[in-house]
Amino acid sequence: MMADSKPRLRPVIAIDGPAGAGKSTLAAYLARRFGFLNLETGAMYRAFALKALQNSAPLDDEAELMELAGSTRIVLQPQQREGNRVLLDGTDVTRRIRDKDVAEAASRVSVHGRVRAWMVGLQRALGAEGGVVMEGRDIGTKVFPDAEVKIFLDAEDVVRSQRRFFQNVASAEASASVGPSQAEVLAGMRERDARDRERASSPLHPARDAVHLDSSSLTLEEVCSQAEALVRSKIAGG
Ligand code: C5P
Repeated sequence: MMADSKPRLRPVIAIDGPAGAGKSTLAAYLARRFGFLNLETGAMYRAFALKALQNSAPLDDEAELMELAGSTRIVLQPQQREGNRVLLDGTDVTRRIRDKDVAEAASRVSVHGRVRAWMVGLQRALGAEGGVVMEGRDIGTKVFPDAEVKIFLDAEDVVRSQRRFFQNVASAEASASVGPSQAEVLAGMRERDARDRERASSPLHPARDAVHLDSSSLTLEEVCSQAEALVRSKIAGG
């Protein structure tokens, strides 16, 4: 479904940037502060990637992936506290889609133009009424180029990989498993970053009118309060 041209009643806040920059935490914070829905578009690519893995679909075969897309239903359920519950064909895959094999597959299925066009249609429909914080790689450039607020959140890759590493350590401790080393996290992140930035279809880059925030040397609280001030100045009138 395409977005229609009716004016939105409420704003869209678009947050883009590479993995590990802090987008999810910032999106959840802003959604809470402004009473908006928080929609993680990366989770949609991850859910579809999981479906492809489950069906042994070749990740580089766009036609086969699109055939699979025809029988795929992805539902995002924004949660009160943080993040989205994700349903794939009615099954809760919220945890499974965070695994390394799915992250890698998501990065590969998302290069295909037709896969992206399908996702963008779903995402526009989800945000059509506004009142959303939508987080991803192409929200301000492609999904909602008319978003009222656009933030491009970045950080140096070493800093981003350290954050991911410590998140992995925390979740590995919770599940008593062993996660990848810090060097492996950095290498995987660089590979996925390069694929996101260099793909032909909607590569990752800041929208011309996006406000850049670099979280390399900021605390999470500082990022959140700077972004909140920005949103207030743009939409809430202070
Ligand atoms: O943000 P997250 O790490 O969950 O996204 C998983 C993958 O989905 C990314 O590595 C990226 O390749 C892809 N993605 C995308 N466009 C978006 C959101 C995610 O291409 N809007």
